[in-house]
Amino acid sequence: MSDPILEVISLTKCFGAIAASDGLTFSVKRGTIHALIGPNGAGKSTAIAQLSGELRSDTGRVRFDGQDVTRWSVDKRARTGLQRSYQITSLLPEFTAEDNVAVAIQSQQGHSFRFLEDARKDHSLRTPAKKILKRVGLSDFADFPITSLAHGQQRQLELAMVLATAPTMLLLDEPMAGMGQSESLQMMELLRPLKGDITMLLVEHDMDVVFALADVITVLVKGQALATGTPDEIRADPAVRRAYLGE
Ligand code: ADP
Ligand code: MG
Repeated sequence: MSDPILEVISLTKCFGAIAASDGLTFSVKRGTIHALIGPNGAGKSTAIAQLSGELRSDTGRVRFDGQDVTRWSVDKRARTGLQRSYQITSLLPEFTAEDNVAVAIQSQQGHSFRFLEDARKDHSLRTPAKKILKRVGLSDFADFPITSLAHGQQRQLELAMVLATAPTMLLLDEPMAGMGQSESLQMMELLRPLKGDITMLLVEHDMDVVFALADVITVLVKGQALATGTPDEIRADPAVRRAYLGE
């Protein structure tokens, strides 16, 4: 429980003169929800992209589940269990919610999206797809084309798609973005029970959500970890209050 599943060691990433990550160092304990917070432009999304493998780091290392994954591709990281949430825009709008989840399960089994027509017809994928839709509260919408889902339901489906890949650790960059209060509460209630099974690194700007969900918080300022601690420790940290909470 106390061993780190993810170790971020001195990661840097420059865009021209801007160091979006600047020696970023922190670690995430297995089975926890670890929040990454910080002002706009602090480098939260950059860090997530470096951890998922979408962005290649200039220097530094990433260790995941005992392996150095620094040079690994997005796919290789995902196959070993380190996975960021899907963007609904990359999904299949003309397919139903259940078909999309079936495709995600199939992709986890090593098939490419070229076989998606097969995924649609493969009846062995139906039961697991239904189970996952139930886990995210979308059972009643299994047969809906995803274009007809409300915004909050599309975000629930994004979560279903990522659960279909059986991750050990999820990278979530503002999963509640654009949601109303009730949708965002619902998303919180979906994420909370996943903890334990799935370690989560959560970027979130709503402090109510962060303080309600996170076990540990890292405060990012100018690409560096200013502080890491429990919600109580972070709330009480004078440097954090000055630099971020605006005091
Ligand atoms: P956050 O998610 O915390 O708001 P970002 O990681 O998106 O911050 O951005 C960190 C800094 O890096 C910002 O100054 C941003 O303008 C810059 N940045 C991010 N992505 C790019 C990019 N692709 N090209 C150039 N600059 C970028
Ligand atoms: Mg961002």
